[in-house]
Parts: sequence; C-alpha cells; structure tokens
Amino acid sequence: MEITAAVARGADAPFSMETLTLEEPRPSEVLVRIVATGVCHTDLVTKGVFPAELPIVLGHEGAGIVEQIGSEVTGIEVGDHVLLTYASCGTCSRCADGLPPYCENFVILNTSGGRADFTSPLSNNGERVMGAFFGQSSFATHALVPARSVVVVDKDVDLVATAPFGCGVQTGAGAVANVMKPGPNDSLAIFGVGGVGMAALMAARAIGAGTIVAIDLSADRLALAKELGADVTIDGAAEDVVAQIVAATAGGANFALDTTARNAVIAKGLEALAPMGTLVLVGLGEASMDLEIGHLTGNGKAVRGCIEGSGDPQKFIPQLLRWHAEGTFPIEKISKTYAFTDIDAAVADAHHGTTIKPILTFD
Ligand SMILES: [Zn+2]
Ligand SMILES: [Zn+2]
Repeated sequence: MEITAAVARGADAPFSMETLTLEEPRPSEVLVRIVATGVCHTDLVTKGVFPAELPIVLGHEGAGIVEQIGSEVTGIEVGDHVLLTYASCGTCSRCADGLPPYCENFVILNTSGGRADFTSPLSNNGERVMGAFFGQSSFATHALVPARSVVVVDKDVDLVATAPFGCGVQTGAGAVANVMKPGPNDSLAIFGVGGVGMAALMAARAIGAGTIVAIDLSADRLALAKELGADVTIDGAAEDVVAQIVAATAGGANFALDTTARNAVIAKGLEALAPMGTLVLVGLGEASMDLEIGHLTGNGKAVRGCIEGSGDPQKFIPQLLRWHAEGTFPIEKISKTYAFTDIDAAVADAHHGTTIKPILTFD
C-alpha cells in the first residue's frame, strides 16, 4: 500500500514528506493506522548521530488502530486500538524471563531500522528506505509492527495523550516503579526533568514515594515539576546542588535518577545518595566515566543502568493507563500536540526545550 512518511535523509536536513510503498504484513506482523506518535529523544539522537542507515523513517511512540493482521497473529483484531512499543525477539532467555528491554536482539531490532533479517518493509520507487525503527517507524500514516510490540488498549483510551507511553514515558516511570520501588520513607532525586524525568516524577507520586527533589537548569521545568508533585526543586547550575539535596532529604537521597548522561551530573547524583542508596542511569550520552569507588565500597551505594523502564510493556503500559485514568499520571501537563506535517517544528521545539513532549497527530 502507499503511505505518507516523514523520511530522514540527513542529520541536518529537514524531514522529507514522501509517498512510500509499505509491504503487506508478514505472518507475525500487524498493520496499524497511526493516530498519534510521540517524539522521543532517541529520534533526535538517531537523526543526528547514530550510524543508522539512511534514508530512514524514525518514530517509536506510535498509537493507532489495527487495519490488518498477519496470518499467525493471535490476540489482536482488526479495529483494535493499540499503543506501540519497542521490539523484542520473544525467544531469547531475557524475553523468556519477562524482561524484553534486555532482549539479546534489542539493538538490531530497534536501532538498525531493519527487521532481524535486515529487510525493511518500506521503499520509495524501488529505493530502500529503512522502516522497522523500534519495530514501528511511526512518523508515517501507517506502520507494520511485530505483534509483540502491540499493546491492545480499551477503546476509550485517549490515543493522542497516551502515545508516548510506549517509550519515553515508560523509560522514566519504569525506572522508578520497576527498579527503585521507593516506599513512603524513601527519598528520590531526579536529575533532569525533561520527558523521562517528569514521567519518573509522576510515577514516584503515583506510588507514594517520600521526598522528591527535582534538579534542572530550566526554571520553567522546575516550576512544572513542583506542580507535578516535586517537594523541592533545585537549580542545577547552583554551586551547592549536592548540599541542597542532602539537606532536603535529611542526609542524602535513597534513590537518584540521572536522565542527563553527563558525567559531571552523574557524579553529583552518586555523591548526593544516602548510604546504601541507588543511582539509576537512563540517559544516552557520554560513553564512560570515572567513579569515586569510595562512595560504592565505603557507603554501600549502587549504580545501575535501566532501559525502557525495565519491565514488560504488556503489563506496565496498562499500569500507566490506570494511573492516567485515575488522574495520578497527568501526561497532558508535559505534552503539546502538532500536526504531523509540522514535524520539523515539533522536533525543533523538543531540541530547544520549549516543548517537553511533542505529540504528532494525524487526520
Ligand atoms: Zn529477546
Ligand atoms: Zn524512545
């Protein structure tokens, strides 16, 4: 079939709106008409930096309605409303353990822009266009998605508001809900309240964590963090960030989340922890760093990474939807909608930080 897609043809080139040919679904794939898609930081990074094969259709926070299913697909029907999430193989040991974020085939299935066999479902008059980015390539009117990446939702779910649940939101919320699991007496310091940090903040509030501290360079974001339930907000440019966190948490934070992937910030996160505290890293950025070993051995602190919220999206996305329905996860506070054709403006606003979470909508 013919679809319209925003094609990335170069790091600095604007998205190119093109008519592409999309293959028929394979036996395990589902054809989804995209209703909305979030713009995630990884889309921006991939367009500018990753060695993904070009041209490529990015986008990996799609939401839509099923139009066709492959012959082997079960549990999904034409007309179902769905949120899309990242791809996983379903056959490796980590997938078998219910931890698809750590799928052995995660990199090829999500970041190459091709299926596991390197084929792409997209082409433009015979030219290969990469089109299985995170199992979806949702910057397009339609996407072919592996059934494992499809989460069926109730028909009263707002597909526009909740589109970002499939990646950026579950990344931040899952780091708190699935990895840290803070109790009412546990404090949490969140470094960077962009989309991922704000999702972590909302999840921490939803599950009843103790003192929450938000650190960011933007006064506007800190004000919004306060509105969303941060007890204390700290200007990240202040000389005494660590001292302020320690004071706010009566001796150090039990948990800290770094969304910045900047070494200087990560070092502060480790320093600001209470003894036995855990720092969780979710950002993509600097490749390596020196850690002060004394913090780990002398104080029992831990540092660990986390990807895609470290849970099973088939279980965790419904949890996020329940919180959203109850009003404890007001994603609308951090998002702004744009028409699909205004994708360049949406990406520019995300890049400049004027919009925390852009969501593209389709007619
Ligand atoms: Zn796997
Ligand atoms: Zn993402």
